[in-house]
Amino acid sequence: ILVFRPGIIFTRGILCMEKVELYGLELGELKELVTQLGEPSYRATQLFHWIHAHQAGEWEKMTNLPRAFRERLGEVGFLPQFSCLRQWQDPWDGTTKLLLKLRDGEKIECVLMTYEKEGKASRYTACVSSQVGCALGCGFCATGQLGFRRNLTAGEIVGQVWALQRYLGPREGGKRIGNIVFMGMGEPLLNYEAALKARRILMDPNGWGISHRKITLSTCGLVPQIKRLAEEEPPVELAVSLHATTDEVRDKLVPINRRYPLKELLKACQYYVEKTNRKITFEYILIKGVNDSLEDAKRLARMVGGILAYINLWPFNPIPGSPWEPSSGEQVQDFALQLKERGLEVAIRESRGSRIAAACGQLRYYSAKEV
Ligand code: SF4
Repeated sequence: ILVFRPGIIFTRGILCMEKVELYGLELGELKELVTQLGEPSYRATQLFHWIHAHQAGEWEKMTNLPRAFRERLGEVGFLPQFSCLRQWQDPWDGTTKLLLKLRDGEKIECVLMTYEKEGKASRYTACVSSQVGCALGCGFCATGQLGFRRNLTAGEIVGQVWALQRYLGPREGGKRIGNIVFMGMGEPLLNYEAALKARRILMDPNGWGISHRKITLSTCGLVPQIKRLAEEEPPVELAVSLHATTDEVRDKLVPINRRYPLKELLKACQYYVEKTNRKITFEYILIKGVNDSLEDAKRLARMVGGILAYINLWPFNPIPGSPWEPSSGEQVQDFALQLKERGLEVAIRESRGSRIAAACGQLRYYSAKEV
């Protein structure tokens, strides 16, 4: 019996278990599979290149792979299969959101953001989901209000970039996605293995070849996982959703704070920076009258002052049923000024896609009735 991770078993050449998600395999795993099928390992590199560099979703396109081998691959595995149920485009900033249906019928959203330079689109960022729903229940987040359904596989995470690129390429003369943020539905560090595996696949130069500096993982502050992440090679670009300067307020906005309070979280961030020598980005959503006072700004400066960090300030994006409102533009400016005066690197971020519910905290999953 030959055993192939993750979960195909061959007995004298007979496939006994479920078909494998070929686009969720790292190149080494694909080589192992291809060798078991009796082909030289360079075939795996060709296949990996077709899937991840050309976003091929059809066997017929893979013309340099022998037909018999393609047929055999089709028996043991499958290529990306997502139906795009709906797409929205924000007329103001060009942000596009796709609603994808997974093989088991679950639905997820992912977002493509376009950044312009001198009036021309110059940079494309994919925002991907890591779970269907989320268990953490952050008060400002539509995904969190709906609860958790399941983790995504590495292939389903990579597949979102694949789907967004298939959307982008033909419309923009083959332009490519160059940045990935794990800031969609779900907490990536609660799906640690799959999220990190997807990242390794996206970094592989035989496929996407995206630099590790262009892939950001966002967390609401899971202390043990942040410490674990500090050991990853190459280091992970980390964004931490802070959103409050006292435990009392953060308990309400980010309930996981009750398990990992601010003091512990900041200690883990400090450890992360020391270990990796990388800056952390602290995300801070400004909510009127909740966390946007000048006292908050001063406290924030004291809290993160000793940590190598950027601070991103975001206006709160309203979601249905939320009692909160965004801070005024003036308040955001004053808040930023307090931080800058204390020597911190701060940026006021513009929410993209808010008109199509694609901005930070607005993604959600849909019931069968809605689509
Ligand atoms: Fe989950 Fe992130 Fe939403 Fe919090 S902000 S509920 S971690 S998806």
